Order: sequence, then C-alpha cells, then structure tokens
Amino acid sequence: MHFQTAYLKLTLFYVAIVMAISLIFSVVIYKISSVEINRGLGNQTSALRQMPLSSNPFVDELERIRQSQLEESNDRIAINLIYFNLMIFILSSVGSYFFAQWTLHPIEESMKAQNRFTADASHELRTPLTAIKIETEVSLRDKNLNLAEAKKLLQSNLEEVDKLEHLSSALLKLAKLEEYVKTDFKKVSLDEVVEESFEKIKKLADKKSITLIYHPERPAINNRRPAKLFVSGDQQSLVELIIILLDNAVKYSPDHSKVAVDIKKSDKHVELEVSDHGIGIKESDLPYIFNRFYRADISRCKQKVEGYGLGLSIAKRIVELHSGTISAQSKAGHGSQFTVKFDSV
Ligand code: ADP
Repeated sequence: MHFQTAYLKLTLFYVAIVMAISLIFSVVIYKISSVEINRGLGNQTSALRQMPLSSNPFVDELERIRQSQLEESNDRIAINLIYFNLMIFILSSVGSYFFAQWTLHPIEESMKAQNRFTADASHELRTPLTAIKIETEVSLRDKNLNLAEAKKLLQSNLEEVDKLEHLSSALLKLAKLEEYVKTDFKKVSLDEVVEESFEKIKKLADKKSITLIYHPERPAINNRRPAKLFVSGDQQSLVELIIILLDNAVKYSPDHSKVAVDIKKSDKHVELEVSDHGIGIKESDLPYIFNRFYRADISRCKQKVEGYGLGLSIAKRIVELHSGTISAQSKAGHGSQFTVKFDSV
C-alpha cells in the first residue's frame, strides 16, 4: 500500500514532466505556425496590392478571406495540438506507470528484505531476553531461593547473555561488511590464511576429537618449488571466512571424524574446499543455506547445535567482496563440501 502511493506519485511526477515539455513545444509550434501562415498570406496580399490592375475592393475582399483563413488555420492547428497532447497524456501515463514500477521495484524488494531481516533479528534477540526475564521473575517470586539455586539462575542467564553477545556481534559484522570498501586489499597467501584459521578452530575440534587435515605442500613441477597461492584481499576477512566454514564443519560432524581443507589452482582461479563427513544438508535446504537466519532442519543431529543461521551469509558476503563465488555440495548423512573460488594473483 505504502509503495502503491509511491508508484502513483512517481507516475504523476513523470507525467507532469512529459506534459510540461509537450505543452511548451505545442505553444512554440502554434506560435511559429501562425506567424508563418500569417506571413505567407500577407505576402500574397501585398503582391496583389502592387499589381496595377488590382482594384481596392478586390484586395480588401482578399484581406478578409486571408483573415478568416488565418483564424481557421490557427483553430485547426490548436485542435490538432490538443489531440496530440491528449495522446501524449495517455501514452505518457501508461509509460510512466511502468517506468515508475521499474524504478521503484528494486527499492521495494530491498526494503522488504530489510524488514524481513529486522523482524528475524528482533525475534532472535527477544528469545534469550524472554528466557532471562521469565527465569529472573520466577526466582524473585520464590521466597525460599537458596544460594545454589541463585547461582544456577545466574549461570543460565549468563548463557543467554553469551548468546545475545554472539548474535549482536554477528549482526554487527554483517552491517560492517555491507559498508566495507575494497581499498585495503593486499596480496594474501591462502596457505597462511588456512594455517591461522586452523589455529583458531583447533580448540573446538579437539573438544570433539575431530582431526583437521590440510596439506599445503604441493608437488614440485620440473624440480621447481611450487609457487604459493595468493589472492587479492583482506587477510582478516578471509580468515573469518575459513573459520565460519570450519566451525560449521566441526559443529555438524560427529566426534572422531575428519574435516579437510584443500586448495587447488586452475588457469586463472584458486579453489578452496572445506569438506566434512557430518550430517550433511538435505537437497531441499541447499538453495537457502546462504540466506540470513536460515537454519536447516537439524533434528537428525543428536545434540542441539547452537547457531543463528548468519554464519554462511557472512561467509557469502566476504566472498562477494573478494569477487569470488561460494557453493555447497552435500548429501544428507554423508557430509558436505563447501567450495570457494577466487581469482588468483
Ligand atoms: P548456523 O549458525 O545455523 O550454523 P550458518 O549460516 O552457518 O548458520 O549455516 C546455515 C545452515 O546450513 C545451518 O543451520 C546448517 O543447517 C547448514 N550447514 C552449514 N554448514 C553445514 C555443514 N558443514 N554440515 C551440515 N549442515 C551445514
């Protein structure tokens, strides 16, 4: 409804511009035409006046005819111009409406997405807040609350606050990435990026006894040491990207399994693959996993896996900033593979 009014307003604005131009041209055309016709007929009369045989009454009669012809022509031009402007009005109204739709449609879509995002974010923020509120209220009403119970409550509240902190930092990261401009891009070694990410994720992997595998050594070609693989980018963001993929791989994999990172180089690209042998992703979920707040049905997973469905959308944004592509292949129950493709430098 809000946008319908905007469509109409913009249509009116376009029509007003077109009609203003058309009317100005019509007035100019009308003036020029009547001056030209008047001049043509006037020339004829003065030519006749100069003829020796012409009698005055004849010329006067001609002058009268000339005057009525001039008025008739002016009226005809005016009517034609009115018809012309009516036609322009109808055509420009239809055209302007479509043009206004074409102009406003992307804005409408992005506003809808923004509203959806705000609604989802508010919902996610409200859940832990409600939990904190209810637990605190119930405990405050309990007159026999002892120290152990109070500590339990504080512990539970702390967990909810941790979740809130996690969510707000993810939201902040997304907002910052939206604003990010690629001015500080440098030549970054992908090997270093993976090594740094491994160091940061190791603790989490160790908790589940998951083995992280990465073979940075590439075979030597013609006795030459293989070149390191570089991309142009922001090292910290790239580390963040690999951490998101590794974090998911660890989160959605069973204990004692393996998570591997592989880097391949083709003609102009560098491909980075993160693969696991975890719960996998259903085919019906695959197209949506990069959407903000999308979480696939994880009922197949034994333990509850925490998350907000923001990791992969942050990953996608980082890849887009580096002019790369990210895709996922997976088979439910057999594991997943995420492939990131960059231009090599
Ligand atoms: P979350 O915080 O839920 O992990 P993400 O945006 O990182 O959010 O991932 C979106 C969804 O994609 C997850 O909820 C999960 O269902 C699915 N997913 C992502 N990575 C994997 C993976 N390696 N294995 C299985 N499922 C995955």
